[in-house]
Amino acid sequence: MIIRFLGTAAFEGIPSLFCRCELCAKAKAAGGKEIRSRTSVMLDDDLKIDFPPDTFMHMVRDGLDLERIQDLVFTHSHSDHLYAEDLAARLPGYAQSLAHPIQVYANDAVLVRIKQTLDFNGGLQGKFVLSRVKAFERLELQTAVVVPLPASHDPIETCLLYYIEKGGKAILYGHDSGWFPDETWAWLQDKKLDLAVLECTMGRSDYRQSHMNIEAVLETKQRFDEYGMLNPGAGIVVTHFSHNAQLSHTDLTEIFEPHGIRVAYDGMNLELP
Ligand SMILES: [Zn+2]
Ligand SMILES: [Zn+2]
Ligand SMILES: [Zn+2]
Repeated sequence: MIIRFLGTAAFEGIPSLFCRCELCAKAKAAGGKEIRSRTSVMLDDDLKIDFPPDTFMHMVRDGLDLERIQDLVFTHSHSDHLYAEDLAARLPGYAQSLAHPIQVYANDAVLVRIKQTLDFNGGLQGKFVLSRVKAFERLELQTAVVVPLPASHDPIETCLLYYIEKGGKAILYGHDSGWFPDETWAWLQDKKLDLAVLECTMGRSDYRQSHMNIEAVLETKQRFDEYGMLNPGAGIVVTHFSHNAQLSHTDLTEIFEPHGIRVAYDGMNLELP
């Protein structure tokens, strides 16, 4: 399986649009891995997680054929994960798209936003099928088996993490979330993972409730080890960074590499053999 890290920033991106902080200035000057767009990943080019406002740029940068997407899975409705307006671009009149509907799996907040936005453009028109998911319910998608799990993120929305089995590999897509809820740990503890994707929005700050800091990432890895959840050769990748943490890609790599954790960057491709 190939996992593409299309974007690796939190809501504001790095550099943030209107920001004059030191990290944003450095990122603008350095370019490359210091530039981070809003978070999304693509698995084998047919399963996409989240649809952020930078999807157009991801498509152009990586030469993606978005018509290969069969299943589109959402973690939650925050605007760095869902830009419903651009889903309308698949409707007749905007795209000569293929016949197949893209199957969308998400919580109710995401589905309502998508439906309302597409209703302004003539409705779904057979281009999307919307399915509401429930935590812990095993779903057999066209491209993978997935199980949504509760996150600790926004108290007014059921934000979800995903356990994904695809191409004989098991992945935990673990954000946005602070330290995982007990019920999520209870479900996860006898699973074997080949890859875990975690977030580190909060950097060195002393906060881990709705996003993780460095400490929470390291303790999550420790918990994976205690539970024996990592298959031999399994990887952990951190993503979803905020400029507020004031940590460059080089800083983050120095922090996480000694713990065997990879720091994602925009356009990073990982192959799980
Ligand atoms: Zn986010
Ligand atoms: Zn900034
Ligand atoms: Zn969020």
